[in-house]
Amino acid sequence: MKVSFPHMGTSHIAFKQFVERLGHEAIVPPTPSKKTLSYGVQYSPEFACIPFKILMGSYIEVLENGAEMIISSGGHGPCRAGLYGMLHEKILKDAGYEFEMIILDAPFRNLKDFISKINRIIKPSKVGWYRFYQEFKFGWAKLKILDEVDAYSHKIRPYEVKKGQTTKKYQEVLNLITEAQTIHEIDEARHQSLKLLDSVEQDRTRTPLKVGIIGEIYVVIEPFMNFDIQVLLGEMGVETHRSIYITQWTKDNAVTEKGELDVIACAPPYLNQKVGGHGINSIGETVIYSKKGYDGVIQLAPFTCIPEIVAKSIMPQVSKDFKIPVLSLTIDEQTAKAGVQTRLEAFIDLMLHHRSVKGGKPREMFFGN
Ligand code: SF4
Repeated sequence: MKVSFPHMGTSHIAFKQFVERLGHEAIVPPTPSKKTLSYGVQYSPEFACIPFKILMGSYIEVLENGAEMIISSGGHGPCRAGLYGMLHEKILKDAGYEFEMIILDAPFRNLKDFISKINRIIKPSKVGWYRFYQEFKFGWAKLKILDEVDAYSHKIRPYEVKKGQTTKKYQEVLNLITEAQTIHEIDEARHQSLKLLDSVEQDRTRTPLKVGIIGEIYVVIEPFMNFDIQVLLGEMGVETHRSIYITQWTKDNAVTEKGELDVIACAPPYLNQKVGGHGINSIGETVIYSKKGYDGVIQLAPFTCIPEIVAKSIMPQVSKDFKIPVLSLTIDEQTAKAGVQTRLEAFIDLMLHHRSVKGGKPREMFFGN
């Protein structure tokens, strides 16, 4: 069976292998592009949030490439996330595409439904549950390493002597990880990957600004959506830390519905209840980044994303109380890289100023569009 899945950062490397090892042909979604976006815009309701549109475009691309089954993760309200999958399916089937959509929700929500969906995935290639479990373990190990090396590369990049060196090594790292075929080889690839990244020539006398990246999961994780903001900032000499990684998010949300309890606990009194998506996390994470001594926070928010709009409206007060500069970037299909870059340069100036007057009276610290 020809099976596909959404594109999200580098996770397709693990998902491709997982699907193939379950006996299917993987239809890997192309890296999102303007073409993906234009398909998505054409087939989506105008006011759908941008992750919905990109996923729509991506599904059209894989269906055109022959996908017969699309496996995606579910979501839950109170924002639109809970309806994403079924809406995609309905629009695409109305448009004439024939395929099977498997939307995987967390097992604890409906164990019977979860089991029957896994059965749908493994039955066509006659794979048993034990084999599924083994392949899941392998795929998970690979996803974890992909997340780890990604985070590590953002710690190295602001110190690189030659611009672009880290990104070059990072490509080699991804090849190493792609080639690993056993858990032992994944461990070995991890070891080699960290060594490769360490081999980038670095100037450790620098004291880079440190910025936390927060916001809605898809625009935070998918570089096409955020104009590769972590690489952009890294090459401008800024160290970034991303608040969301797929493996961490899955652990916190697939086993229980409680989410990132430590982060959520930091949101009150500014926000006392979940508002969907990562709204409450954005507030909690800003507080945490401030306490950890970060120089600033960048909030990435899809246009019309209700949870991030709620968080953004509270953010000026959090920024003021915790004395941490916050830049809120709203992203839609009109957003251009040049505009983002200009705003980042201005934000870097602001953070440098803030660093120099720490303890003194800072200037205005919240910027939103
Ligand atoms: S979190 Fe925001 S972008 Fe994601 S589905 Fe909800 S409203 Fe849309």
